[in-house]
Amino acid sequence: MMLLPPSLDELIIENHPVRIINQVIDQINIEPLIKNYKGGGTSSFHPRMMLKVLVYAYINNVYSSRKIESAVKENIHFMWLAGMNRPDHNTINRFRSERLKDVLKQLFAQVVLMLNQEGFLDIKDIYTDGTKIEANANKYTFVWGKAIQTSKERISKQLQEIWDYTQEVAKEELLDKEPISFEQIDSQKVAQTIDQINEILKDKPVDKKVKQKLNYAKRNWPEKLDQYEQVEQVLNNERNSYSKTDKDATFMRMKEDHMRNGQLKPGYNVQVSSSNQYIVNYTLHPNPTDTKTLPSHILAHQELYNQIPSSLTTDAGYGSEENYVMLENKNIEAYVKYNMFDKQQRTIKNDKYPFSKDKLYYNQDEDYYICPMGQKMEFIGEKKQKTEAGFTQQLSIYQATNCEGCPLRSQCHKAKGNRRIEVNHNLERLKQKAKKLLISEAGIAKRQKRVVDTEPVFANIKHNKGFRRFMLRGKNKVEIEWGLIAMAHNLKKRAAI
Ligand code: SF4
Repeated sequence: MMLLPPSLDELIIENHPVRIINQVIDQINIEPLIKNYKGGGTSSFHPRMMLKVLVYAYINNVYSSRKIESAVKENIHFMWLAGMNRPDHNTINRFRSERLKDVLKQLFAQVVLMLNQEGFLDIKDIYTDGTKIEANANKYTFVWGKAIQTSKERISKQLQEIWDYTQEVAKEELLDKEPISFEQIDSQKVAQTIDQINEILKDKPVDKKVKQKLNYAKRNWPEKLDQYEQVEQVLNNERNSYSKTDKDATFMRMKEDHMRNGQLKPGYNVQVSSSNQYIVNYTLHPNPTDTKTLPSHILAHQELYNQIPSSLTTDAGYGSEENYVMLENKNIEAYVKYNMFDKQQRTIKNDKYPFSKDKLYYNQDEDYYICPMGQKMEFIGEKKQKTEAGFTQQLSIYQATNCEGCPLRSQCHKAKGNRRIEVNHNLERLKQKAKKLLISEAGIAKRQKRVVDTEPVFANIKHNKGFRRFMLRGKNKVEIEWGLIAMAHNLKKRAAI
């Protein structure tokens, strides 16, 4: 057809995104990636080329290794980017899940820093939000921490009952024996106790049912307790559930609930910091609530860029005392809403709780409150409590002097005796500090921007890129997938400008 066939380069227009991707990834230092190759990199495919192909595939919503394999054979943009190399799906998969392990985030950060230098984003002024992405795991293969706890308690109780029976039967023999507690049990303790009971009851007339129970316990309980221990190790006191097909995935409520039945699905809580709709930082978490994710998310930012952000804007899901304290200690301006912030901003026509403690007058100098009847509520003591994340909160307690016969009593409180309130002064101070920032001119601008900064990032990834479920399994691999998505998101946005 043609005397001289055109080169691939001629066929790709000058400003095509594929050229920008090529140019940006050419500037990245891939030294950490090369170190992931044993013996210093003797692969037949160059890691830089493989990275370009993968990122470009993710930009084009191609996530399957087989589809990427086809693209490098059939699509001229992929062929140009791959320099006519044709890695097969196994090579692509191995590169994605093994070679990029532990290094992709560094490569991602280099791209972010490049965009920062070019003025497209700002790594100091960030907006953080989270979304849940379904894991590649069966939604019916769940393991619940609570069920394990209940089973352990049942075994403890039954063991105690058998022990009590044994004590009854061999009263004299066990007279000097120290009492045993079965509150904390493990397979070894249970096996030893059953052997001991069998030994004591050996020559004695024993109830048939107890004998059967003992035989069952000997055969099953130690093994079961070993299994429970393994489950507890996976849960690591961090979460209440996991999926057997992806043990790192936790059951959580997803935003996308097509069946509208509130079914929990295995997934990951993905936290993203953005700036000008570019992703600046990402972390994946097993716990479904956003509150607990912030400290490690900010730490990841610090490690990536060797600096902490100067300001952070989030929604009310992050407004806890530990988060405020952490941000204050790091000197980060916290435009972080707390639970009641939005409600407080609205003019309340029919206030349902006119006597709630936040509406009481507080005299800071003399440390007392004034109740709705004008009575003094004196400070009567303090108490400490721990949050789920292990943070210690200090509460001050105040009490009214005499509520008896008060005409406002039915509306004021329902407790017996005089009204008591518990106040966390540190949290109140931090909330006031956050409020001051949030209602300032800069705060209003940031609150308006938050809605159009991080949320469009999730919308783009979930709806335009169609990425609603991970393809790989396990936190390490899933993190790589999200890293590629984040890099693709940033470069696509960069190429579109
Ligand atoms: S019930 Fe007690 S605390 Fe409430 S208004 Fe009356 S006196 Fe004050």
